[in-house]
Amino acid sequence: MDFIKSISLANLPTKIEKLEQLSKELNHDIYIKRDDQTGLELSGNKIRKLEFAVKEALDKGCDYLITCGGIQSNHCRATAAVAAKLGLGAYLVLRGSEDNELEGNYFFDKLLGAKIRFVTAEEYSNSRMEIMEEIKNKLEKEGHKAYIIPEGASNGIGSLGYCKAMEEILRQEEELGVKFDAIAVAVGSGGTYAGLYYANHMNKNDSVIYGINVCNDADYFKGRVLELLKEISTYTGEEIHVNKEDIDIVDGYVGKGYALSRQEEIDFIHKLAKQEGIILDPVYTGKAMYGLVEEIKKGRFNRHKNILFIHTGGIFGWNSFARSLL
Ligand SMILES: *Cc1c(COP(=O)(O)O)cnc(C)c1O
Repeated sequence: MDFIKSISLANLPTKIEKLEQLSKELNHDIYIKRDDQTGLELSGNKIRKLEFAVKEALDKGCDYLITCGGIQSNHCRATAAVAAKLGLGAYLVLRGSEDNELEGNYFFDKLLGAKIRFVTAEEYSNSRMEIMEEIKNKLEKEGHKAYIIPEGASNGIGSLGYCKAMEEILRQEEELGVKFDAIAVAVGSGGTYAGLYYANHMNKNDSVIYGINVCNDADYFKGRVLELLKEISTYTGEEIHVNKEDIDIVDGYVGKGYALSRQEEIDFIHKLAKQEGIILDPVYTGKAMYGLVEEIKKGRFNRHKNILFIHTGGIFGWNSFARSLL
C-alpha cells in the first residue's frame, strides 16, 4: 500500500516477543507485539494513529488539537503529549468531573498542560462532537485554528496508523521466520482493528484478525468496523468489499462494563506479570488477553498455531479501584 504521509512520533518498529511460559501452558505459540513501547509519554496504540491525524492538522495550519475521552483516556494523554512536543495547544473533553482522583492519565494530562473541559456521561454520549465544535469556535475567536480528533482517533485517517502497523508485522514475519495465523487486539473504538483488517486484506494476507471488545457488543463493532473500512478507503482510493460476518469480534469479555474490573481479570493480569514480566492494563489489554486465553482454552483457536497479541499499552490506566483487587 502506498501511504499517505505521516509524521514520525512513535519508536518503530516495536518488538515482537514470544511468551515462552504461556505458550507451553496453552500448547500454542503465543507472541506479543510491544506497542505499549511506542514511547513513554507518547505510548500505546494511539500514537500510531496520531502520526497520521496530527500530520493532517499541521498541513491545515492548525495550532490546537481538540479531542475527547474518558477521564483515564490513554488517547487524550497521548494527544496532550504530542501537542506539547510540537508546540501546539491541547483541549480535552473528558467524561468525568473535578472530583475524580488526580491520578494516571488525568494527572499527566494536567502535567502536560492540556486544557480540560469536563462533561457528564450523558453529555459525552449525546453531544461530544457538538461540544468539541463549540470549543473549536471559541478558540477561533481567540485567533487559533483548531483540529478535532474524534474519540480514540478512530476515523479513516487515524486508522491508517494500523494499516502501516500491519505492514510492519508482515515485514517482521519474514525477519522472524514466523507466520501469524491469528492476530488479536483489544477493541475500544475500533480504529486499531479496522486498520489491521484493511491492510491484511489489501496485502492478500490470510491471518485472521480477531478483536476482543471491551465495551458495547460484537454487533455494534462489526457495523462500526465496516464504516471505518469505508472511511479508510477515502484516503487510499481502494474500497474493500466485506460483510459483517467477515469481521471477527470476540464478545463476552466486557465484564462489568467499560473501565470496570472483575477479580478474574485482575488475577489474570497478575499471573501474566509474574509469568512473563509483561504488564497489561485493566481497561483494554487485560480484558482482551484474558478473553483470548479463555477462548484458546475453550478450543476456539485450535486451527491456529501461531497467535500474535498486540499489546496496545495503557499502563497509566491502573487506578486505585483496580489496584484494590490485587
Ligand atoms: C484505545 C485503546 C485500545 C483500543 O483501540 P481502538 O482503536 O480504540 O479500538 C486498546 N488498548 C489501549 C491501551 C487503548 O488505549
